[in-house]
Amino acid sequence: MIILLRYCIITKDDIKALEIKEALMKRITLEYDEKNPDYIITIGGDGTILGAIQKYIYKNPKIIIFGLHLGHLGFFTNYMIEEADDLVSNINNQNFRIEHAPLLSFYIDDKFCGYALNEVSILCPTRTLKLDVYIDEEKLETYRGTGLCISTSYGSTAYNKSLHGSVIDTSLNVLQLTEIAGINSNAYRTLTSSLLLAADKTICLKTVEEGKITITYDNKVIEENEFATFACRLENHFINFAYNKHQSFLKRITRTFIDEKK
Ligand code: NAP
Repeated sequence: MIILLRYCIITKDDIKALEIKEALMKRITLEYDEKNPDYIITIGGDGTILGAIQKYIYKNPKIIIFGLHLGHLGFFTNYMIEEADDLVSNINNQNFRIEHAPLLSFYIDDKFCGYALNEVSILCPTRTLKLDVYIDEEKLETYRGTGLCISTSYGSTAYNKSLHGSVIDTSLNVLQLTEIAGINSNAYRTLTSSLLLAADKTICLKTVEEGKITITYDNKVIEENEFATFACRLENHFINFAYNKHQSFLKRITRTFIDEKK
């Protein structure tokens, strides 16, 4: 049986990206389908990839992302703009390799709420949050401050990095818990440094004082008035990133953060 594969292209809002999209569409022989694609080409940076993931992951958990780097940081992008020909031939010939990036799942009062590739953060920008923090069933601390960020290794270079969390080699599958402006006083003693946890752990937060809470996951946000528990873990769901040439983790972080942009 021949399976007809479908693809679509998601671009950042930019004329150059749209021109590249048009040029690629003339050369790709698969069927174009924005409703149910098997492959998604993104033209832009990480923000474009995160947007595509949040749009399609709930429909098709097996989607494969081909990230074509245009402009921005592009930590996730595996194809540089000069490798657009490789991308076209990889798709047309179905010949590429896949890197699996783990997704976080999170639950509010035991109800599944979403996936995140980078991080889930729970915060209150106007007041301090008071939360009991548990790792599995064991209590770690009572936290008070602006919020907490739970990130994957792939997300360690995003919001987590700005919070002075550790940058983690993406070949290590771990959870990272990082404070967002924690108050550390005689009344509330917390770890303060970011905490790395094994991939099978669940981070559970229990509300101590009720109030408005903002939850962000990648580029999405939800507001909650109150909840009893919030749980976040890695659950064997992955994003599939296609690639042609292997790019070492060090190369990825030097081109994203250290090398000067030409
Ligand atoms: P945005 O505010 O427009 O851009 C966020 C920036 O983070 C972009 O430069 C983006 O790269 C970069 N980025 C995203 N994921 C990354 C990763 N894994 N490693 C390194 N850099 C990464 O928002 P957005 O584009 O929709 O992205 C949402 C993400 O923004 C969230 O998941 C969160 O991590 C991040 N964020 C960061 C802060 C902060 O650092 N203070 C605050 C809020 C949110 P491109 O330029 O290639 O798109």
